[in-house]
Amino acid sequence: MSKTAIITGSGRGIGAAIAKRLAKDGFDIAINELSEEAGQQTAEECRALGVKAGVFAADVSDYAQCEEMIKKVKDEFKTIDVLVNNAGITRDGLLLRMSEETYDTVIRINQKSVFNMTKLAGAAMLRQKSGSIVNLASVAGLYGNPGQMNYSASKGAVIAMTKTAAKELGSRGIRVNAVAPGFIQTPMTDKLTEEQKSAILGQIAMKRYGQPEEIANVVAFLCSDDSSYVTGQIIEISGGLSM
Ligand code: NAP
Repeated sequence: MSKTAIITGSGRGIGAAIAKRLAKDGFDIAINELSEEAGQQTAEECRALGVKAGVFAADVSDYAQCEEMIKKVKDEFKTIDVLVNNAGITRDGLLLRMSEETYDTVIRINQKSVFNMTKLAGAAMLRQKSGSIVNLASVAGLYGNPGQMNYSASKGAVIAMTKTAAKELGSRGIRVNAVAPGFIQTPMTDKLTEEQKSAILGQIAMKRYGQPEEIANVVAFLCSDDSSYVTGQIIEISGGLSM
């Protein structure tokens, strides 16, 4: 029987690259996006690789919407074997100028979504006694980053949540890991100024930005049986941004 992967926020950027890579590996793909239209292109590209793919619209920061989405995915695909918590946003600003609303929005979307989806997909995996969950953390969550008090707090929490979930679910055959990307070329980082981009480049040992496919390759490893004894780990993928 084919396996199913659900990837949040996979209409574009790193999420879309992960969806296509997992489709190549033979997974049926449940694409999550805020709207149906936003996920259609990824779905078509996955189907072209010979697997089933569907778009499931939901705001992953909303528990009730996640509950409804997981039910629909189970109805359509029967099992949930892989969950990739990829959806995330940035709302950067220096601490003293950051509004409470901006702080709360980033925490809700980047952090609460991981609670919602891990709890709901984890329950389905518990019944199967198998599964792999991969969270998208960030180097900002490991080391902090000026202008990202909200984002780095949310990603630091994702790292702690990864380890807690790995400890809770490990005995039931469910592995939980995270990747911590550095600077990856996507619509999220296209927003940075040229000055910010060149400052970041100066700190990267490999002297280039990463591509979404380079994140997808490591996520695919963590979703595969090749990593069957790996859990609770945070793998930095940053071209040597920090060592
Ligand atoms: P991106 O291009 O901005 O894509 C993020 C995707 O998430 C978008 O499709 C977005 O949909 C979706 N999304 C946002 N809020 C959502 C919600 N509430 N419910 C469902 N979907 C939602 O970002 P990316 O660069 O690919 O980043 C993907 C992940 O990697 C994020 O968690 C990010 O924090 C992490 N990361 C990225 C980098 C980097 O350098 N790019 C570095 C470290 C970590 P809309 O288009 O509708 O907003």
